Amino acid sequence: MTLDAVLARIDSDLPDATERLLDLLRIPSISTDPAFKGDCETAADWLVNDLKTLGIEAEKRPTPGHPMVIGHVKGDGPHLLFYGHYDVQPVDPLELWDRDPFDPQIEETAKGKVIRGRGSSDDKGQLMTFVEACRAWKAEHGTLPCAITFFFEGEEESGSPSLVPFMKDNADELKSDLALICDTGMFESRVPSIVTMLRGLLGEEITITAASKDLHSGMFGGVAMNPIRVLSRILADLHDDQGHITVPNFYDGVPELSDEIRQQWQGLAFDHAQFLGDVGLSVPAGEVDRTPIEMIWSRPTAEINGIWGGYTGAGFKTVLPSEAHAKVSFRLVGDQDPHVIRENFRKMVQDALPADCEVTFKSHGAGGASVTETTDPAFEAARHALSDEWNIPAAYVGCGGSIPIAGHFQDILGTTPMLVGFGKDDDQIHSPNEKYDLESFHKGIRSWARILHALT
Ligand SMILES: [Zn+2]
Repeated sequence: MTLDAVLARIDSDLPDATERLLDLLRIPSISTDPAFKGDCETAADWLVNDLKTLGIEAEKRPTPGHPMVIGHVKGDGPHLLFYGHYDVQPVDPLELWDRDPFDPQIEETAKGKVIRGRGSSDDKGQLMTFVEACRAWKAEHGTLPCAITFFFEGEEESGSPSLVPFMKDNADELKSDLALICDTGMFESRVPSIVTMLRGLLGEEITITAASKDLHSGMFGGVAMNPIRVLSRILADLHDDQGHITVPNFYDGVPELSDEIRQQWQGLAFDHAQFLGDVGLSVPAGEVDRTPIEMIWSRPTAEINGIWGGYTGAGFKTVLPSEAHAKVSFRLVGDQDPHVIRENFRKMVQDALPADCEVTFKSHGAGGASVTETTDPAFEAARHALSDEWNIPAAYVGCGGSIPIAGHFQDILGTTPMLVGFGKDDDQIHSPNEKYDLESFHKGIRSWARILHALT
């Protein structure tokens, strides 16, 4: 039996697949709001039942929060795991929706048909692309192509509090050769993409103290050290005039791009003028010797996120404050060690303090970057499968933000994550009027069938 038969089955079954998705979208599984706890259970039950129709041994597994859904099917060849989440974001402000967010519909738009409703893109629609590919495969072949574990979470939109403990407690059961994650998008809404670089994050809060109390500048100005002046100098020195970050040894572990990735990224023709223009900016502000796309995906950053001290109310007060504060965060890449960077940053601040000043620090989390090696042949196989389906060369891309689940698969299970998704920039996930293009759904299902074919 051929892949063509599976693809043809997917095409003819699309109306039914869409109905099934609409059915799942009608369940208001908002994980963060306790009022919807029962609905999260209902969504988990829906998925268990749906997996069972594919002959998969599936069940709800309790956690202190919303249940996980786990399903297994045995088989030969590689053992794949598929991850998605069935919970959704809250819907407010409700008045900005053009329809009831949980009464999903197919809408005609200028850009084609879309599935409109909360969760259509993030992540129920994406999750179902894989399930529907399996359904078509099973219908044509009688079995699935290999051993597959289905792993659906119900707390992704509320910080995944149960995820790490659950993965640790069930590590043997969840270990697999490759973890497929469908919760990302396509580059510029058209290039099929495998996300291989996610930046890490380190957060630090600084308080610099000088005098033992607030002073008056008429009395003490000129003779007393002002901590805001000290803090400003330290923060201004975080970058040199080339945009490089000056924390000692900061760039240890920052990898250079491989020629292959560099070429792929050049081919993406990222329009930074438009990217910045959309937010009223024009000139990239990072390291002068890097392209804008590198600045977002593959280079580390230091950003001052907040700064306060002294008098900031209405009018004016000639206070000489005793304290100055700032929040600083670093996006990390490659093998940069967040704990070493924290130490070096703190030492740099300490060393810059003049007499009579003291500093205290507060940590706001530290997580390293997640970088997926694409040496496993599965990556090239999947990339070719995606290119075939979309008729555009698929790319390995970065993501400026963080998707913690990818790191957990690597760190807790030792399983390589592969992030493939079909979301588009205008899907309005987390916002009113969320949608998923019918094309993303249809070609997403076909993409997974091609990937399964290529991997087995
Ligand atoms: Zn998501």
